[in-house]
Amino acid sequence: MVVVAHPDDESFGLGAVLGALVEAGMDVRLLCLTAGEASTVGAGPALVEQRRHEVLAAAAVLGLASVRLEELPDGGLSTVPLDQLTALVEQELADSRLLVGFERLGVTGHRDHSAATAAALRVASAHRLASLEWGVPDEVARQLGALVGTRFTGFARGAGEPRQLQVDRAVQERAIACHLSQDPHNVVLRTRLALQGDREWVRLVRRGIRLRS
Ligand SMILES: [Zn+2]
Repeated sequence: MVVVAHPDDESFGLGAVLGALVEAGMDVRLLCLTAGEASTVGAGPALVEQRRHEVLAAAAVLGLASVRLEELPDGGLSTVPLDQLTALVEQELADSRLLVGFERLGVTGHRDHSAATAAALRVASAHRLASLEWGVPDEVARQLGALVGTRFTGFARGAGEPRQLQVDRAVQERAIACHLSQDPHNVVLRTRLALQGDREWVRLVRRGIRLRS
């Protein structure tokens, strides 16, 4: 089960990793906590509806098994009580055995990402389920900051070592292309993908229940 803050996080951020999980035969469920209404890119009265269509189309491309879209405040997830976020994750959990999300520091500097992951990690911990956090290595975070002025962060220290995955970006690129309102060619995304090539970094934390390999 994937828990993200915004429509496009599943593609711009996690797309290659989710593609790999689906390719490995997993049923991947998506919970997206906001409608992305605060985006300054593509802003307008139809933005929420458009982003809803975009994330559904992207989920279909990625081969996700189900999608649940919530409408908590975009830009304000960190002010929503963690219990409330956790309850939503619990409602969607079903028989999931792996919680997937952005790295706990938020990756891009957006606090919504950290809030979504905090809820996912809390549920993982409570149910002794494994968790998988997607992030960028320190060097990529540093270069994105230097090249395009972002506030990306690497992996939190002391929470387990990230591991590198070789990924195929073809499906991710098709999912990214669904998010027309968010500029699939935006410089931050394109710079990250150029820096990383076919590599992604994830932190897997096991909590007692074995995953099938
Ligand atoms: Zn986001």
